[in-house]
Amino acid sequence: MAKLPIVTYPEPVLAQKAQPLAEITPEIETLIKDMIETMYESDGVGLAAPQVGKSIRLITLDETGPKERKNPTVLVNPEFVEQVGVKESEESCLSLPTFSCKVKRYERVTVKGLNEKGEAVEIQAEGLLAVILQHEIDHLEGKTLVDHASRLKRTMYDSKVKKWRKD
Ligand SMILES: [Zn+2]
Repeated sequence: MAKLPIVTYPEPVLAQKAQPLAEITPEIETLIKDMIETMYESDGVGLAAPQVGKSIRLITLDETGPKERKNPTVLVNPEFVEQVGVKESEESCLSLPTFSCKVKRYERVTVKGLNEKGEAVEIQAEGLLAVILQHEIDHLEGKTLVDHASRLKRTMYDSKVKKWRKD
């Protein structure tokens, strides 16, 4: 397993709609293992393939976090089946260093997709797990937290990022 470099905003791949995955090839199996390793080693609870530069519909997550590592979960071609209620969550993102903002999310979601073996799975989630699923599936739509932030907050972050890239 290898830790992959994480793509950061405003790299174009983060703003692209990712393509469905037709087949879980050996290359994809390796990518899945590397993404889980990368997620844990970066201290994250979720990672979407565009964040490692691959514009495909694949996410990994583990709501128990990088210390416990109890529930590594893979979803290929995830889709919402149900979205219920409203909650506000404060979120950050591995692709947006130093950035965080409040996001309006559904309280409970049901997501279907395929697992790493290509088997159909359905996950019913609330709390942190529901937030992670919505955050990661946003990435597959080319959406990041800056798209949820106020215009002012986004503009301030944009100038911060511009300055980093110059230095
Ligand atoms: Zn993210």
